[in-house]
Amino acid sequence: MTAPERQTLERMVGFPTVSNRPMRELAAYTAERAEAAGFRVQLHEDPDRPGKCNVLAYAGPEDAPGEGLMLSGHLDVVPVEGQTWTSDPFVLTQREDRLLGRGSSDMKGFIAAAITGLDGLDLSKLQAPLVLAWTHDEEVGCVGSARIVELFKQEPAPLPKECWIGEPTDFRILRMHPGHVAIEVVVRGASAHSSKPDLGASAIKGMQRVLTALEVLEAELATERRLEKYLDRPYVTLNAGMIQGGSAVNMVPDACTVLIGYRPLPGDPPDDVERRLRERLMNTKMPSGCTWTLRQVRATPAMLTKEGMPLQGLLTPHCCGGEPAAASFATDGGNLADLGISSLIFGPGSIDVAHAPDEYIEIQALQRAVGMVQDVVRARCF
Ligand SMILES: [Zn+2]
Repeated sequence: MTAPERQTLERMVGFPTVSNRPMRELAAYTAERAEAAGFRVQLHEDPDRPGKCNVLAYAGPEDAPGEGLMLSGHLDVVPVEGQTWTSDPFVLTQREDRLLGRGSSDMKGFIAAAITGLDGLDLSKLQAPLVLAWTHDEEVGCVGSARIVELFKQEPAPLPKECWIGEPTDFRILRMHPGHVAIEVVVRGASAHSSKPDLGASAIKGMQRVLTALEVLEAELATERRLEKYLDRPYVTLNAGMIQGGSAVNMVPDACTVLIGYRPLPGDPPDDVERRLRERLMNTKMPSGCTWTLRQVRATPAMLTKEGMPLQGLLTPHCCGGEPAAASFATDGGNLADLGISSLIFGPGSIDVAHAPDEYIEIQALQRAVGMVQDVVRARCF
């Protein structure tokens, strides 16, 4: 007989919930499963993005703010285009002691284990709240969890203060990660025929000065090292990732746009580097006729959770050793911190295979995760 967590994972992998596609069916499936287990379930569809849903499910007493536990995971997966898979990425396939499929590790495996584990508990006996938060579009900037934050800021409701995010960590506890912020700088000039450049103002020349200011800031940031014990690159990295300007080789360009990304360190406010760049640009002399504007396109906040919260104590016996460390990737935990929720990242599967072809989870790891969810929820909420 197929193990129930494997059956659940098989169903979940079968929904091709790549971030650019609708994922209502998978959200509905997890909502049904939560309801069947005894949760009060809300499905929140994003009015601006039809087919994109967060699932919030509640069980246990409603009048114990701060206590209890939240379990969180994202329902979307990264694309498979351009990757060579040896089996259909959306059909869970066994290869020796592994199960292959897109999202098996990142992170439908944990969600399937949680759903299965909770089926085995009598939630009517909960002494503290248990909340599930399954999100959409984590892979494209933690969009779903940002919506959850908006929702609770508009209509505050008590939530547990501790959250377990089951991203694949090979059962190591991670308590921090950098964020990612994208900003756009547009330089505007005036177009003219290139035979009469004095009649125009080159936006590309203006952009040159923006990029110089950026390079100086990048060098400055590289000297501000922090959290060296935890991070490979213990400073804010900055990258001009895309640039576009001009329309013809014989025209003076009237506009040039650059998209810049930077990664705030754990504990850094997301807007810090943006503010510093703005200040630098205000002190940069632009070519006559050129102006610039700067706007934030997207911000995924960094996360920094203090050592020693109760959840850490409950995960430690299941952990494969080592001090709580830093994740190189961002998670929904950065957004959840905005609601006063402290998260730890801990789950089955490996981030090394997460976005790769033939992504897999070990059958044994999936199975162990079921028992871990039960142990932790029993200890924290019963
Ligand atoms: Zn993930």
